[in-house]
Amino acid sequence: MSVCQKPFLFGLERQEIAAAISEYGDVPTYRKEQLYKWMYARGILNPLHYSDIPKPFREWLNQKFEWNIIELSLKKQSTISGVNKYLYRLHDQRMIEGVWIPEKNRSTLCVSSQVGCALGCKFCATGTMGLHRNLLAGEILSQAWYVRCIDQLIVTHIVFMGMGEPLHNYRETSKCVRILNDPTGFAIGRKHITVSTAGWVPKIYQMIEDRLPCRLAISMGSPKEDVRAELMPVTKRFSLKELMLAAKEWTVAFDDYVTIEYTLIEGVNDSLQDVQMLVSLLKGVPSKVNVLTYNPISNSKFQKTSLERTENFIKELEKKFSGPVTRRLSRGDEINAACGQLVVQQFTPTGTKISYEHLQSIQYFD
Ligand code: SF4
Repeated sequence: MSVCQKPFLFGLERQEIAAAISEYGDVPTYRKEQLYKWMYARGILNPLHYSDIPKPFREWLNQKFEWNIIELSLKKQSTISGVNKYLYRLHDQRMIEGVWIPEKNRSTLCVSSQVGCALGCKFCATGTMGLHRNLLAGEILSQAWYVRCIDQLIVTHIVFMGMGEPLHNYRETSKCVRILNDPTGFAIGRKHITVSTAGWVPKIYQMIEDRLPCRLAISMGSPKEDVRAELMPVTKRFSLKELMLAAKEWTVAFDDYVTIEYTLIEGVNDSLQDVQMLVSLLKGVPSKVNVLTYNPISNSKFQKTSLERTENFIKELEKKFSGPVTRRLSRGDEINAACGQLVVQQFTPTGTKISYEHLQSIQYFD
């Protein structure tokens, strides 16, 4: 993929599209709507095929904007779980990844919102990379576009749980959410889009103010402030108390519950005392707790909690917590489907072999 000089039209909202094409002349509103539908509802990223749009305008669009936004670099498919993992290359040669997870009655796509991540959670592969840059809305949306339109797979749910902290890239994330939810866009219902945060509190309030049409998930780490601060440094900036206050306001504003993602780590957050503290913390915050198994990453001191401790933790939580408790089966381990694992793997000696030239062209650790 060459270095891109032209802007993307894909990823812009209506008003931005109007501004971007204004130099072409006076384009009627219905024409702009046709353009919007070609891109987002039909998923056609070649304007020369926009058959109900006059040819000179189609050619101008083709010439003026960049339409090749991401390029598939590697796809891993798990024959065990059916999970697909995608590694995409961007115009600046940086890489991102997405994961498609088929289940009985739904198929969820997990998308990345940043290249790397600044938040440095200790249990996360992406966190070891640092932040390289924010993704543009077009680059986030393209991950959904690729799976739907090129791979022709069904995507019923979108979760912002891939690489990056979506609320740290709020402007582009929020544009994406609106386009995904728009009935003339990707037409995915509000309750089928989930933005997950490690606790970037001010943007939770922004979500409320903007009435951002999605659900909210919070990665908990630990209900103990000091342990959480160790695991998730963002806690030093925004405390658990502030986070819970924001979460509560969000639940009131949307009349919805928040999902608490709780990843069990052996000896760190998997005791019965942790259950008690978690229950106390969530008191008065309508929530659902989703218990996850930890996916070990290389060079990490953390271990997956044993099956027995997992069972005990869940049993105790079900006994003490008034909301629903779910257990997310760890799927796709065999292809390193935890966020950031595949990208990080490309840069470790034990990772998938890629060419020297390829390594040279990727500026991850610059
Ligand atoms: Fe960033 Fe999320 Fe990983 Fe934390 S868990 S480092 S917020 S990508």
